[in-house]
Amino acid sequence: MEKQILDCVVVGGGPAGARAIYELSKISTNIALIDYRETLGDKLCTGIIGVECIEKYGIDNNIIYQEADSADIINPANDLFHLKSEKPKAYIIDRVQYVQNLINKAKNNNAKIIRKFRVTGINQKENKVAITYSNKDEEKVIYSKSIILASGLENKLINKFNITPLKKENILNGSQLKIKSKYRKVISNTKVFIGSNYGFQGFGWIVPTSKDELLIGVLTKDKSKKIITEFISLVKNKYNIIINESDKKNIKSWGIPIKPLEKTYDNRLLIVGDAAGLVKPITGGGIYYSQISAEIAVETIKQALEINNFNCEVMANYQNKWEKQIGHEITRSNKLRDTLFGFEDNMLNQLTKFTLSNKLIAKILLSKSSSFDNHFASFVNFIDNEKVNSLFSKSKSNSIKTLIPNLKKKFLDNLRN
Ligand SMILES: Cc1cc2nc3c(=O)[nH]c(=O)nc-3n(C[C@H](O)[C@H](O)[C@H](O)COP(=O)(O)OP(=O)(O)OC[C@H]3O[C@@H](n4cnc5c(N)ncnc54)[C@H](O)[C@@H]3O)c2cc1C
Repeated sequence: MEKQILDCVVVGGGPAGARAIYELSKISTNIALIDYRETLGDKLCTGIIGVECIEKYGIDNNIIYQEADSADIINPANDLFHLKSEKPKAYIIDRVQYVQNLINKAKNNNAKIIRKFRVTGINQKENKVAITYSNKDEEKVIYSKSIILASGLENKLINKFNITPLKKENILNGSQLKIKSKYRKVISNTKVFIGSNYGFQGFGWIVPTSKDELLIGVLTKDKSKKIITEFISLVKNKYNIIINESDKKNIKSWGIPIKPLEKTYDNRLLIVGDAAGLVKPITGGGIYYSQISAEIAVETIKQALEINNFNCEVMANYQNKWEKQIGHEITRSNKLRDTLFGFEDNMLNQLTKFTLSNKLIAKILLSKSSSFDNHFASFVNFIDNEKVNSLFSKSKSNSIKTLIPNLKKKFLDNLRN
């Protein structure tokens, strides 16, 4: 007898997969999620999400470690700029619990959650997809009308589809060390370190969570493991923190794709979140965009189920929709990233001093018009601001004075169209 055919199987239970299975569970009970991890959501991450993400998807207050209403920016000359906004722009959260809350809600709606099994094969059949999954003891096959691939960077599974994989040069390298210590009290807010010490297009951070815990990390196009080792020495000396050699064994590394796949769908298949490269390119934050893509994917699956048609034409609606919602922002922010992260240390020192120590400019930077989740739009608001333009134009430094007109000329005018 033919095995049961599910409506949809989600591969991967990070933020993208968890959002997908929860949204699916509102429309079907004939669904499953498969992840090889024991603890879903426990992938390397700092757990910072913006206000927009919380406004759109909500959050349980008990999983917020801290409101991020202030941050210190440290430039290559070691000058520190303290920024404080009236209202929090972002939140530091318990990401594992965030994911698990979504999974639990899906379970309550009767979604099947299969943990500790890895999907090893996806085979297209005439009217279904065969999904092979296994652990060290057994191998099983499940059939589904459709698949949402939310497997993050581990996306070898797309090899069998007509899809070009993510390009290595578009993947940032992240490394992070979690230390549990009394130093959490010494470092009470997020600190961001910029400049060439963090490698090509890189930056470093120290983020305190509320559990006597500090996260020290770097994100770069260079080798993040080497850079974080040097960064940890800097942090130790600067803040008198004891970090033992043995602690360094706990450094974890993972990649972040910042340019989307050209094609994020195929017959019966939709690719979401990191697996599709749907991440904010400036910061590498993907918790929000991965959920947006998952939500759009479920809308597309719902439509396909209604008309019982899962071919490319129907699946393409998914890509059209995410391109409209976040595609432009991702493309433009990638260009912006190349420009902003292209400044040399000297220029960064000048620019941070000029902007961040000027109260009016700092206020504009932190105003409502700047968003943690739409960097390009915030950048445009900033450089279009008359007061900002007037202040820059009065600078004695020629490079500051000409910066905004140059930026506009160099790439903004093209991008606006
Ligand atoms: C150092 C670092 C810091 C970061 N900090 C932030 C931050 O502060 N804020 C933010 O928004 N983003 C941050 N990110 C990015 C963020 O973690 C990702 O964008 C986000 O996790 C993407 O979610 P996802 O569900 O697409 O993928 P993932 O979270 O990677 O989830 C994929 C899941 O698929 C499972 N899986 C993979 N292959 C298979 C398979 N074959 N079978 C079964 N299961 C499989 C994995 O076990 C995993 O659980 C950070 C990333 C790094 C590396």
